[in-house]
Amino acid sequence: MTAYDVINPATGEVVRSVPLASPEETDAAIDRAARAWPAWREVAPADRARLLRRFADAVDGAVEELAALEVLNAGHTIGNARWEAGNVRDVLHYYSAAPERLFGRQIPVPGGWDVTFREPVGVVGVIVPWNFPMPIAGWGFAPALAAGNTVVLKPAELTPLTALRLAELAREAGIPEDVFQVLPGAGDVVGWRFVTHPAVRKVVFTGSTRVGRRVMAGCAEQVKRVTLELGGKSANIVFADADLERAAATAPYGVFDNAGQDCCARSRILVQASAYDRFMELLEPAVKGVVVGEPGDEATEMGPLISAAHREKVASYVPPDAPVAFRGAAPDGPGFWFPPTVLAPVAPTDPVAVEEVFGPVVAVLPFTDEEDAVRLANDSAFGLSGSIWTRDVGRALRVSRAVEAGNLSVNSHSSVRYWTPFGGFKQSGLGRELGPDALDAFTETKNVFIAH
Ligand code: NAD
Repeated sequence: MTAYDVINPATGEVVRSVPLASPEETDAAIDRAARAWPAWREVAPADRARLLRRFADAVDGAVEELAALEVLNAGHTIGNARWEAGNVRDVLHYYSAAPERLFGRQIPVPGGWDVTFREPVGVVGVIVPWNFPMPIAGWGFAPALAAGNTVVLKPAELTPLTALRLAELAREAGIPEDVFQVLPGAGDVVGWRFVTHPAVRKVVFTGSTRVGRRVMAGCAEQVKRVTLELGGKSANIVFADADLERAAATAPYGVFDNAGQDCCARSRILVQASAYDRFMELLEPAVKGVVVGEPGDEATEMGPLISAAHREKVASYVPPDAPVAFRGAAPDGPGFWFPPTVLAPVAPTDPVAVEEVFGPVVAVLPFTDEEDAVRLANDSAFGLSGSIWTRDVGRALRVSRAVEAGNLSVNSHSSVRYWTPFGGFKQSGLGRELGPDALDAFTETKNVFIAH
């Protein structure tokens, strides 16, 4: 295949055909990135910072355009898509402060001086999934560029349009062409070449645990640095002492945002048995109230799934005999729609309680006490995110420490801030993105001893 027809998931219509990079084109792009690296790492810190700020400003000027493109390409609601474009801008601004602050250390030693440097790694390959095409691209390229690396980035086959536009905006802002390149292409061609090409020194992969495992194994051949952001099956734990009204009103947004195609989706709701009936009573109107429809409408809260094939996969978790407690609405007709769906009661061993559905389907499970809640929450191969609802501050902290996940929120479902670290425990990933931590992932520490 040499080109890919990008489909609007809300209508099923072809938006545009995008050429796919061949193995030769991929190698040529990587070679250009490798040749561009020595000059880019030598750009004075203040100048590199200024270029990143200009890039951020260019993105800011294009927020509406980028958002509209994401509505068209990924079916994201216009509100979410604006946030996503704004997130790219903010992440660029945040890391534009890094070049002048990439401090090393001076360590006391006898007979001389000892200093450390934070060296860029070289060419960084960023592999992006289709669920959040803009933010996930930015979380890779912004800190990588700031630390003095050059970047080749592969968007998902399904969603290349915003990444292509971001590459143009980088160019308009004065970032040299070979310093940041976007290469639409197949995962096992372009993405895999990032893994196998010796000039790519670091791979940032966000996607499924299945592919992430292969990428990690491939990188091991060259002891290549790798950051992995993979799947999740996060728990929303609701204790009986919580503000049940608020917990129930927000639970749908903790899992159905982006139609559930969110690695942080709280797709298991664990409810203390003594509050179970009341919580379900409150949850039903909240779920039925989620506004599902045309993603470009300002009032829409949930759009379609990304593709027909993905809808089929999601539907397989809701067979005709599934224990559907209640469902929201979804448009019929063209487009890949699926209604918000609540399954209860669900056994902890049921595939829908174990596997990442990546759609608007949530399983509700009861628990007895704090120990049982933690046991159930941790009974998963994943460990990305989660929420804890309680009015007891001691319990909130105890459970936060006990749940094996990288990003937790108490009495909230918010997991992502560009200035705080993000990443997974267990099979949800390796390494941290965003915040002060990301720069460690794009630099090597060098120690130099200088004799008196
Ligand atoms: P995917 O693993 O199928 O694809 C992800 C990317 O990898 C795509 O660009 C794809 O083309 C590429 N790819 C596929 N095969 C490859 C190969 N052999 N070598 C190199 N690259 C290859 O995932 P997806 O379906 O696009 O995305 C959904 C998954 O992403 C979900 O599991 C979700 O949880 C995960 N995700 C995780 C995070 C996080 O931060 N932890 C964020 C978003 C999505």
